[in-house]
Amino acid sequence: MSGLPAATRIEELDWVPRQRLPALRRLGLQTLGDLLRHFPRRYENRVKFDRFPDEASETPVCLFGVVRKTVYRRFGSRRIFEARIEDESAGVLGSPLICRWFNMPWVQKMITGDQQIVVFGKPRVRGKQVVMEHPEFEVIEEDAERSIHFDRITPVHPAGDGVTPRALRVLIHRALEETDPATIPLLWPGNAVSARVWREVHFPENFGEQENARTQLVREEFFGIQLVVCARYAAMRGQGGTPKPGDGSSWAKVQSSLPFELTASQRKVMEEISADLASPHRMNRLLQGDVGSGKTLVALRAMLQAAESGWQAALMAPTQILAEQHYLNFRRILDPLGIPVVLRTAARKESSGGTDEGAHASRVSDPAARRIPPLVIGTHALLFENTGLERPGLIVIDEQHKFGVLQRSRLIARGDAPDVLVMTATPIPRTITQTLYGDLDVSVIREKPAGRGKVITAVREPSKLPDIIAFLREKIAEGRQAYVVYPLVEESEKLDVKSARAEFEKWTGLLAPARVGLVHGRLDSDEKELVMREFRAGTIAALVATTVIEVGVDVPNACIMLVEEAARFGLSQLHQLRGRIGRGAEKSYCILLQENPDRTAKEKLNALETTSDGFVIAEADLRLRGPGDILGTAQAGLPPLRLGDLLRDGELMTEARKAARALLESDPDLSLPGHEHFREFVENTSARTGIAEG
Ligand code: ADP
Ligand code: MG
Repeated sequence: MSGLPAATRIEELDWVPRQRLPALRRLGLQTLGDLLRHFPRRYENRVKFDRFPDEASETPVCLFGVVRKTVYRRFGSRRIFEARIEDESAGVLGSPLICRWFNMPWVQKMITGDQQIVVFGKPRVRGKQVVMEHPEFEVIEEDAERSIHFDRITPVHPAGDGVTPRALRVLIHRALEETDPATIPLLWPGNAVSARVWREVHFPENFGEQENARTQLVREEFFGIQLVVCARYAAMRGQGGTPKPGDGSSWAKVQSSLPFELTASQRKVMEEISADLASPHRMNRLLQGDVGSGKTLVALRAMLQAAESGWQAALMAPTQILAEQHYLNFRRILDPLGIPVVLRTAARKESSGGTDEGAHASRVSDPAARRIPPLVIGTHALLFENTGLERPGLIVIDEQHKFGVLQRSRLIARGDAPDVLVMTATPIPRTITQTLYGDLDVSVIREKPAGRGKVITAVREPSKLPDIIAFLREKIAEGRQAYVVYPLVEESEKLDVKSARAEFEKWTGLLAPARVGLVHGRLDSDEKELVMREFRAGTIAALVATTVIEVGVDVPNACIMLVEEAARFGLSQLHQLRGRIGRGAEKSYCILLQENPDRTAKEKLNALETTSDGFVIAEADLRLRGPGDILGTAQAGLPPLRLGDLLRDGELMTEARKAARALLESDPDLSLPGHEHFREFVENTSARTGIAEG
């Protein structure tokens, strides 16, 4: 087969209308190859349409009919255009469908009587009529191109302003005819993708064919992603690092002072991290473990090992509250052993604990007296200011999900090349770990410490509030503590969200004489710290809070959480919030308040009622958020996902990862002959996403 090279620019082609070029450019379509890689977002079976429905359905249907009547109406500022569509083949027996568009004047220009039309949408019942509101539609014309659009499985491509799916379909159909498939750049080793797949993915004869073609192309797409992340990993490994073997003495002391045994999982990940630190490679590792699995001690052990090896070690938390908590926690453990630890936050540049050495050590003005504070705790923000760290050999990032990939890449690029350990409580399905964190080694804590009380989760209507309040009062009278979380959207202060102050006063009244505290993002850090200290000490019985308590806060005596307007929060976020309770031996209760939850809200809240397994919840979260590139691969500095689905195509990702790894092991900088196109792909992707290496 001959034809044009895939790199041919579309403005050079006389069959691409000039006036479409800006719209195509907006979709990122500049070459023939781009057109072929512009994959359908769905298909319509225009050989066999669905039957005209007589009831509502949540699954969209695709119908073919004739426009019998159009009506245009105005209600005040609302303009309604209505088209009555009939099923020609059903005759008088068929029930018509009413399609409605509000305030979309251009639709009226496109639809006129007696046209043949395809509509796609969810049928609803309004009175006695079956109605579709804002369906996708396409007028079918009796022209030379009819066979591209009709009587076949028809692709619907992602369209945009100035270019419809119909127009794209014509262009892509033509591109398939004109392009020499041998010139389409492919990455998958051995070019397993055969020339046919391009036609089959856009204009399949049947759905089996489409599925096969899709699989081949997803493989290709995933390999591109893995090539980028594995190359990033190889580059980092190649930088070299400093071995930090330590002698284990500080940790031995800490361990023998702990009032509990480590879990087997904790021990295992500690060994992995310890070995990695001791090796001459730079460490770049992700520690995953559900909320409450005990990651902080793992961090502490790693930090002690780095300090014993003569390096400063820093633990960075996403919020000030959490930084303070880690600091107090470390001091409680380390003070008796005489190991110094320093807190650095934006609010209060430093305070020191343990011995005087902490404070003394960071006084830079007197180089002779200067010694490096071994352990530093601060907030993420400090990493990028010049205030913090003198000789960081290890940086631990707590709660990675609050820490962007771009920030991580800046961290890795630091001239002082510290070892990096990022910790996350967000359980991530394996495929996603391999993708978004594919440039990291991974350690996973799989079990939680024994002896934790059960957490019971219940969804309730606000009408049940009196019972719930009685229950709260009872538990507080027994000496327990509670969180009341409400959805104040920080910074944006939406009008419909109850104000912090009013909430606080309401609960103070409801729970009197017990003391209620208030904490939210707008308090200054001293105020926050004061409230948290009192809550930790138990002098505050209930804490009214925004999601500032979402991450990390650890108060084992708090065993009730009431979440107001729970459906406003994301599923994973609710799981994180719930992680604040169930930390002691007591049974804990998480009450999710929601008035009239819609279907998605119900599903979301039910998921929390039925499971506390973070991985199950993470997958449900992804499913509920629906398809599309919800993970934002671009933010992770990766090529966009056009075809693959990280949940559905997990095995293909694993396969792609293996292949990419093998390639990079044989050629870590992709410099061997024949590997030029791999390197070019990696470099282009990194340049495009602004994530530069090393
Ligand atoms: P997370 O993984 O959510 O950061 P933390 O490190 O805050 O969890 O640990 C939660 C609580 O569990 C802390 O109070 C900690 O002291 C305690 N803890 C950690 N490891 C164990 C263990 N092996 N047995 C019992 N309690 C533990
Ligand atoms: Mg934590």
